[in-house]
Formats: sequence, structure tokens, C-alpha cells
Amino acid sequence: METKAKILDGKALAAKIQQELAETITASQAKIGRPPGLAVLMVGDNPASAAYVKNKEKACEKVGIASYGRHFPTQTSQNELEAVIEELNQDEKVDGILVQLPLPEHLDAISLLHKIAPDKDADGLHPVNLGRLVREEPGLRSCTPAGVMGLLEEYKIPLMGKQAVVVGRSILVGKPMALMLLEANATVTIAHSRTQDLKTITQSADILIAAVGIPGLITASMVKPGAVVVDVGINRVTDNNGKSRLVGDIDFAAISNVAEYVTPVPGGIGPMTVAMLLQNTVFSYLRTNGI
Ligand code: NAD
Repeated sequence: METKAKILDGKALAAKIQQELAETITASQAKIGRPPGLAVLMVGDNPASAAYVKNKEKACEKVGIASYGRHFPTQTSQNELEAVIEELNQDEKVDGILVQLPLPEHLDAISLLHKIAPDKDADGLHPVNLGRLVREEPGLRSCTPAGVMGLLEEYKIPLMGKQAVVVGRSILVGKPMALMLLEANATVTIAHSRTQDLKTITQSADILIAAVGIPGLITASMVKPGAVVVDVGINRVTDNNGKSRLVGDIDFAAISNVAEYVTPVPGGIGPMTVAMLLQNTVFSYLRTNGI
């Protein structure tokens, strides 16, 4: 079957953003006297988290951001982590702090996130930054939805007055995503696990964002012809031959015959999320230094 949809290439745009950030860093480092710094904190040995952290640190190195990340054993206490965050809040070399989620069960992730100084909140998840988003004030924005917005903007996808449907209402993706689309003057509907008749709702979407974590949840018959479909989901599945691979939440092959634009997994929102993390760190770095 012929593939009609155009690909929203997150990998290519992320590479372009990283190149621009590298140039900004080179230009400002001479004035500021140090590179930007990002501290990624990881607790325990979740293999997916370890891969994400490695990826983030590699990206930092590529653009010239210094990494002050630390890896803690699973048994690390809440108090110890709070003390580390406090120390990083005071550290002038550190512009961004990020706690890699999920954390081991004995830790309270929310209260740790709240300890991060809002102006070093590279993930944009502190209540102050979420509040700034609600008020449409400038601030550090959540990386994944910011990555979606960046990609839509790059391809000049019109949002004003359009019907946007976000499937998923997490504080990490769905809710900030809906607010950013609203900020761009879309008419936004949020669907979630309790939504009735999801199909009727998704069929109304000019812009459909899937952020659920269920492979193949969004099928071609749920998509309006000509829609823009963004797949935030990252799911590891095992094929019949025992090989594992990453897929999103949408039936990519079938939807490619219905939609006008679609994002791939991998190579869509994943790399954009990392690019936004670096961008947030550089934003804080420049702002702290009055640039
Ligand atoms: P989450 O589990 O916190 O939230 C999932 C949301 O989906 C919930 O709000 C829930 O109400 C909704 N949902 C569950 N079942 C549903 C159903 N049958 N119909 C409609 N809605 C349903 O997950 P999350 O942290 O928001 O992540 C969502 C997905 O995005 C995951 O696959 C995650 O791995 C991925 N993700 C990707 C990136 C990236 O960089 N691309 C970043 C963060 C998360």
C-alpha cells in the first residue's frame, strides 16, 4: 500500500536544535566563563532509565553542556536525595537539575521534584513552572510536550482554531500538552482511561496526540483523513521471532494511509524531548547570566 502521510522528523529537528545550541554555547561561554551544567539524578538500576540517562548525558556532551549527574543505589533515602538537590540548587555551575523517573517505591518523587529550585527545573515539572504554563507566562516548559510543539511549529502545522485531541492526562505529558495546545489557540479535548467512545472523539481531531503507553491503541479508523497524528508513546514489544523493538501508541502503517502528517517511533518525539531538555538548560544558563 502506498504511504501518503508525510513524516514529522523529530530526529532531524532535534539534531538541528542541538547544532544551534552548540553554537549558542560556544558564543556565550567566553563571556560567562563556564559551560552550562546539567545534573541528571538517577536512583536504582531500572535499565530503561539507565538508557535514557546515558542518552541525555551523551547529548549534553555533544552540545557542550557539562554533566554533573549522579547515580545512587536503590536504597538511597529521601533525606540523602533532598540534601543532594539542595547542594545542586546552590551550585553555581549547575543550571539544570533533573530527577530521572520512575524512582524506587520507598521514595516520594513529587516531594523531591518540589525541592528543585524552579529556575533549575530542566524538566519543567515543578509546580511553579506548571503554574507559569497555566498562566501562559514564560518559564521552563515540560520537555515532551514542548518537543511536540516544536515539531508542529517546524512543519508550520496550523493550530489556531483547530480541533486538537490529546489522549492521556498525565502530569508529565497529557496535561501540559493540552495547555500548550490551548496556548496556541487550538480547541482542546483531553481523553483518558475513563473516556467513553474514544473513537468518536479522536475522529474529530485535526491534531491528534497519543500519550498513553498502549501499543496500537489508535487505529486508522479512529483518525480523521488528513489529520496530523503525533505519537508520544514508547512501548517495548517482542515480535514472534523473539526480537524486541520500540513502538508507539498508534498503528503507524495503517495511519500513514489516512493522516497527512505522522511522527515515527523511534525518531519522533523521543529525540525532541532530549533536545528540549538541553534547550531548557541553556535557557536557564543564559538567564542566570543576564544574557
Ligand atoms: P501515564 O501512564 O502516566 O499516563 C497514561 C495516560 O493514558 C493516563 O492519563 C490514562 O488516563 C491514559 N489512558 C490509559 N489507558 C487509556 C485508554 N485505554 N484510553 C485512553 N486513555 C488511556 O504515562 P505517561 O507518562 O503520560 O506516558 C505516556 C506514554 O508516553 C508512555 O508510552 C511513555 O513511555 C511515553 N513517553 C514518551 C516520552 C518521549 O520522550 N517520547 C516521554 C514521556 C513519556
